[in-house]
Amino acid sequence: MPASKSAPDIHLYHDDLPDGLDLGDVVAIDTETMGLNPLRDRLCLVQLSSGDGIAHLVKIAKDQKPAPRLAALLADPSVEKLFHFARFDVSVLSYYIGAIHGPIYCTKIASKLARTYTDRHGLAELVSETLQISLSKAQQSSDWGNDSLSEDQMRYAAADVLYLHQIKDRLTRMLEREGRMAEAQACFHFLPIRCALDLNGFGHTDIFAH
Ligand code: MN
Repeated sequence: MPASKSAPDIHLYHDDLPDGLDLGDVVAIDTETMGLNPLRDRLCLVQLSSGDGIAHLVKIAKDQKPAPRLAALLADPSVEKLFHFARFDVSVLSYYIGAIHGPIYCTKIASKLARTYTDRHGLAELVSETLQISLSKAQQSSDWGNDSLSEDQMRYAAADVLYLHQIKDRLTRMLEREGRMAEAQACFHFLPIRCALDLNGFGHTDIFAH
């Protein structure tokens, strides 16, 4: 089936990335899980894109097998991992796949530091404002643990990584313009520690508070 603008290329794999797939220096990554508690709700899907309009989906089975190629990518310090709300994905991925080595970039943190004219920092809002594309969130709370994913689920999952590179570029320009890039970088750098605190029971404790 030929790819077209409205139907992005989606490649589905099981258990791990295929051998020899090069996703470049900046990889957009998202996850789908059984819920919002990483300790309770298992990882079901990892989506990745190099920003070329192709989404790579890795289905993680209930009896999860090792994913050495995915783990190697997450641990590779020469690859920037690009997320929207990295705090969740980094926690889930480090818990189920393996430790994440920076650099990390989070478009939600970047948006909060750059787009101070709004309190709307969801992915759909960023995609709409940056690219004038409207994302459907209809499959957000669907059953990602299902053995086979529907077409709608795969399209929804793919959309969560296809636009992050363009959003990052715009937010970085805004952060530089407003003089907040250093703060953003420091926050990105802190993310693995923030996630370790979350996983170790400090999720709701503000350790900076009095
Ligand atoms: Mn998602």
